[in-house]
Amino acid sequence: MRIAIGQLWQESNTLNPLPTTCADFEAFGIFQGADLIERFAETNELGGFIQSLQAWPERKEIVGLMRFAAWPGGPVDTTTFNMLMDRMIDTLQSAGKVDAVLLALHGSMVAECEPDVEGYLLQRVRELVGPAIPVVGTLDLHANITQRMVDNAECLVLYHTAPHVDVMSTGRRGAKALRKILIEGRKPVTSFRKLPMVVPAERANTQDPDSFSYGIRKLLESWERNHFVLSAGLATVQPWLDIPDLGSSTLVVCSDQAPASWGEHACAELATNVWDHRRDYLPTLVDISTAVRAAFDAARPADECSELAGSPLTVISDSADATTSGSTGDSTAVLSELIKYEWPRPALVTLVGPETVAEAEAHGSGAEWTATLGATRNPRVFKPITLPVRVQNIFDAKFILSGHLAEKLPIDMGRAVVLMYKNVHIIVTSRSGPHFAPQLFQSAGLDPFTASVLIAKSPCGFRAAYADHAKQIFVVRAPGCAPSDFWTLPFTGIPRPLWPWDEMA
Ligand SMILES: [Zn+2]
Repeated sequence: MRIAIGQLWQESNTLNPLPTTCADFEAFGIFQGADLIERFAETNELGGFIQSLQAWPERKEIVGLMRFAAWPGGPVDTTTFNMLMDRMIDTLQSAGKVDAVLLALHGSMVAECEPDVEGYLLQRVRELVGPAIPVVGTLDLHANITQRMVDNAECLVLYHTAPHVDVMSTGRRGAKALRKILIEGRKPVTSFRKLPMVVPAERANTQDPDSFSYGIRKLLESWERNHFVLSAGLATVQPWLDIPDLGSSTLVVCSDQAPASWGEHACAELATNVWDHRRDYLPTLVDISTAVRAAFDAARPADECSELAGSPLTVISDSADATTSGSTGDSTAVLSELIKYEWPRPALVTLVGPETVAEAEAHGSGAEWTATLGATRNPRVFKPITLPVRVQNIFDAKFILSGHLAEKLPIDMGRAVVLMYKNVHIIVTSRSGPHFAPQLFQSAGLDPFTASVLIAKSPCGFRAAYADHAKQIFVVRAPGCAPSDFWTLPFTGIPRPLWPWDEMA
């Protein structure tokens, strides 16, 4: 028995003006064949696939296809799209006869020439392997699921959590669903509902018992405990996609052992429940100046403000420039407010700026100069800021990410520097990446948990790392490619009516 596995992972953001290119995939690491299986046996969905398949008692061979991953960013350019599709299909073709295909997909990858990349790939896989070979895919909770994706896979398995702390276990769930189809001979039936709604990510915290999303996660988990349910999921979609077919989805995959219409009823009930609670997803945004002022008040030494003993940390989510949502990461909107204060402990803020890193390296460690920072990648939306800075540290932003989005995922954000202005530490990286991760700050020699304030370029996932450490958390109203009030922007390619652009009964 031969089972082919592969990965195609990127969350695209069509408001980001910078296309995602071959170089972005190469920077993240392209792997294939036995190398893929060796390197990713403990990482993310591929690790979940590999460990599960290896535990199957049947004789089997795991066939590694391609692992293509790039950090969230602008749409994939056409050359890169063709390269990704052709190499994935060519590797599957040259693998010879396989008995099943298991793919770790994101579900929201958009190319300049194709708004439904995963649907296109699944269709080509189906055309190659034929109707008799099971194809199972895993998807992010922010997938934009299309009918073409559903039609060309026996089963799609979604993350249940945001922050995404179930990435690897979703791989295991994918392998488990495949086992029911391939080994136990169950016939899967997918029930799928597309909802005319898109919601912000900020309040969709499935780990917070006070959140609507928490109840949904518990419900989906309980459904999947039924032996006849192969998969149950809600995809609340990556909102910053100006494409046809944009919308949230509910999906339930049952086997032929399910009671009649069970999957259809469950899928429809879930869709109605989510639609009725759509306003629960709207976040409360705070002005940047208010959030920074509150952070400063909380950070003052205990003798000045004794009731605020304990952790002084305030986390401010600059979700509009979230690099995890595909924004460009070069906003100075919060930085320009931070520099107005004398912080008793470090204030930590990040930027993507390869030119700034090169300039700082040329000046050297300890050098002081007047730097122009930010707005190098998205100057139409962001404003640069000019500051006298000192080069505090020059380092490689390389680390292993675990927590939101990852289980032992190698990250390389290239050469990076820490620039100091008073006690504001500006961490500038050459490449985009998880500009919220404790491991990023730690690789820069900084302790994120004892800072006065930390700016997380993440809408919700950062909470997995900081919710237990922060005295307070704010989400600010700011410019960027990933604003939570996305419906105020001029989308032209989306289907209408679509909530919250349009009010509907
Ligand atoms: Zn996601």
